[in-house]
Amino acid sequence: ENYDLAALKARLGGIRTEDNPALVRQKSRDFYWYSPTLKRQLDAVNGDIVAFPTSEEEVLSILAACFALSIPVTPRGAGTGNYGQAMPLAGGLVLDLSGLDKVLEIAPGRVRAQAGAILADIDEACAASGQELRLHPSTYRTASIGGFIAGGSGGVGSITWGGLRDLGNIVSLRIATMEANPRMLHLTGEEVQKASHAYGTNGIILEVEMPLAPAYGWIEAIIGFADFGEAAAYANALGEQDAILKKLISVIAAPIPQDYFLRHRKYLPDGMHVVLAMVAPVAGAAFESFTNRWGGQMLFRSDLLGPEEAKGLPPLYELAWNHTTLRALRVDPSITYLQTLYPFPDQLALVERIHAELGDEAPAHLEFVRFDGKVTCFGLPLVRFTSEQRLEEIIARHEAMGIPVFNPHRYTLEEGGMKQTDAVQLAFKREADPAGLLNPGKMIAWEQADFDFDTGRTYLFAGLERHA
Ligand code: FAD
Repeated sequence: ENYDLAALKARLGGIRTEDNPALVRQKSRDFYWYSPTLKRQLDAVNGDIVAFPTSEEEVLSILAACFALSIPVTPRGAGTGNYGQAMPLAGGLVLDLSGLDKVLEIAPGRVRAQAGAILADIDEACAASGQELRLHPSTYRTASIGGFIAGGSGGVGSITWGGLRDLGNIVSLRIATMEANPRMLHLTGEEVQKASHAYGTNGIILEVEMPLAPAYGWIEAIIGFADFGEAAAYANALGEQDAILKKLISVIAAPIPQDYFLRHRKYLPDGMHVVLAMVAPVAGAAFESFTNRWGGQMLFRSDLLGPEEAKGLPPLYELAWNHTTLRALRVDPSITYLQTLYPFPDQLALVERIHAELGDEAPAHLEFVRFDGKVTCFGLPLVRFTSEQRLEEIIARHEAMGIPVFNPHRYTLEEGGMKQTDAVQLAFKREADPAGLLNPGKMIAWEQADFDFDTGRTYLFAGLERHA
């Protein structure tokens, strides 16, 4: 489709826009190339223009102008999402929110910030009050809070606090609607679920209020085990130690750490399966005793390093969550991955069963979390990719064993999530984006109400054909 960009620019007056093709292309991509499937499907996707608002008023003007001209709008934080969430499938305007980056208010237990604020910058602003965000993705140093809420799910901190889906982990959201005269809505309590993890398909998040936790100078530790099952059992048990404050417990099977954690390589003996942990200093001695009981070998502790030794090491959480995959991809571009959930209380048995079957084709990577109050783990197994068909078979094997897969090789909300319509988000889209102009193609329920998820067929957005 051809949009009337000249009319748009005329309406936007002094608001900064760019239609330089190289810049538009850069702002039209995210980390979709993580997936060989998405890379094939989305490589040609491009917006037509990028807008860089610096205030709420500017965002509202942009939305009103795009509504009047029927130009799709795809919001963008930092573009670190890895399912093509922030890619404008129907072209149009990319709404770069990085200019709305102010931390507005810090109070005991909560912070209010503009949506484009970077997570690490929010924590820096909160540090003087001895507080920090409860949860952050491993892209903490680059991702925005609005993008995390709209496109992410949890991460570092989830072992204590659960995920963004848990009531109480988002206090409130201020949202702009996509209408002739955009309205501002304030969502609190379970209403936040209307727009959280909706990929920006049903409102533009302008401001967020998040709960805070006490901040610590977290100890980073790597614990080694000769046996993978022992490493997983130790990690699960550490997760259940409620009196040992912790922010991260990851388990990564050999030879992944040795092959891909290059800057930590000297701490990682060949053949060792590792647990990555972030523990509060007050719990340091208890943590050490607990680890000794389990026969874990302390391979690395950040608090015991000299300043010279610490130089050049990335933070431990940048070996965990999706960063494990990123580090592997940097060494071996043929690697990909899956996202799975091992349901409580069978998590350890399920981990053992699936990895016994898949072996080195899908090296294990577990992230322990609280899920509905129970300690269990997500899987982010690496996959030595051979073909899309084989990837589908591996997914089917997981699901047949009762291990749900949140497919990271799909760009739609439903296929990457629960494989069913989210009635609440759909209803909110009817209210907040009646013309369907926000991030088109990401919510199947909007595009094709009778799509049958049971066929296992992949949804292809009609807009993508223009790039085919
Ligand atoms: P973007 O990628 O810019 O946007 C994400 C989605 O939100 C898009 O659909 C976009 O349209 C929409 N959006 C952005 N801003 C707004 C807004 N203001 N209003 C409405 N919609 C908006 N995710 C996790 O949950 N946990 C992890 O541990 C994690 N680790 C990662 C590690 C790596 C190496 C990579 C590449 C990704 C990882 N991710 C993880 C995914 C992603 O980095 C995070 O979800 C991140 O928080 C996204 O923030 P962003 O600002 O980059 O969002």
